[in-house]
Amino acid sequence: MENPRIWFDGKLVNHEDATVHVLSHVLHYGSSVFEGIRCYKTDKGSAVFRLREHMRRLVDSAKIHRMEIDYDLDTLCDAVVETIEDSGLDACYIRPLTFRGHGKMGVNPLNNPVRTIIAVWEWGQYLGPEALENGVDVQVASWSRPAPNTIPAMAKAGGNYIGSSLIKMDAIKNGFAEGIALTVDGYLSEGSGENLFIIRDGVIHTPPAAFSILPGITRDSIITIARERGYEVREVAMPREALYIADEVFFTGTAAEVTPVRSVDHHVVGGGTRGPITTELQTALFDVLHRGEDSHGWLRFVGDA
Ligand code: PMP
Repeated sequence: MENPRIWFDGKLVNHEDATVHVLSHVLHYGSSVFEGIRCYKTDKGSAVFRLREHMRRLVDSAKIHRMEIDYDLDTLCDAVVETIEDSGLDACYIRPLTFRGHGKMGVNPLNNPVRTIIAVWEWGQYLGPEALENGVDVQVASWSRPAPNTIPAMAKAGGNYIGSSLIKMDAIKNGFAEGIALTVDGYLSEGSGENLFIIRDGVIHTPPAAFSILPGITRDSIITIARERGYEVREVAMPREALYIADEVFFTGTAAEVTPVRSVDHHVVGGGTRGPITTELQTALFDVLHRGEDSHGWLRFVGDA
């Protein structure tokens, strides 16, 4: 099937019929919340990585923005599986999105219906095919992350990505793969769509959840795996120069998985190649994602698996 059907408010509809009105609130005011999830073709069958945690974050994001989703968490998880199975894809990217549709025009979101879609498509490696092995060159962004109590960073809301888009465009225009944003106080935060990890002297550091970051599910998985392997993981405030003197730096995210960073602002990180701890953690995560070795109950198998 070239364009898989899209789950739209409880029904699977053809790709071309999944449309909205141009006066939908979301188009004018950015009122959506969404998720990015992946289904992998593991050695044990097709499986979605941490489906329930992702859909729970969608429900949480909706709650923060006072959107009432008509479906409970179990129904939403089952709808994802139904959409994947209907598509016939054995590996895909999954995009659930809840948004304010067409009601009474004006800022007041409460006058507009809450609608939900789930779409799936084939998607390769986010930061380029070479990135997972060789790493990426990044810059510290000139745009900061939203200050606390401005736009809620814990919600994965469409409007938040206006900031991420500025960070990403700046990076690309400057010849980098990605930008790392600082908080308004100047501490390290995250990439436009990835969480950040820094390793020095064998200790793993990452900005705390309160630092205007999205609490990433890959971040949580990597912290869990690293601690199980005996590494110390510190969630601490760090200045930008911590990047320049790091032994290893890497990004985590559903799209980026574990992507090494080989330079920041033209400072070479460590040896300029994927470091040993990054390699170990990446391999451990890939054992789950590709080999289906799931000791944490992180995989939900789909189809005939
Ligand atoms: N931060 C931002 C801003 C993101 O968009 C993402 C991707 N969802 C992440 C971090 C990583 O989150 P996750 O590991 O849950 O994909």
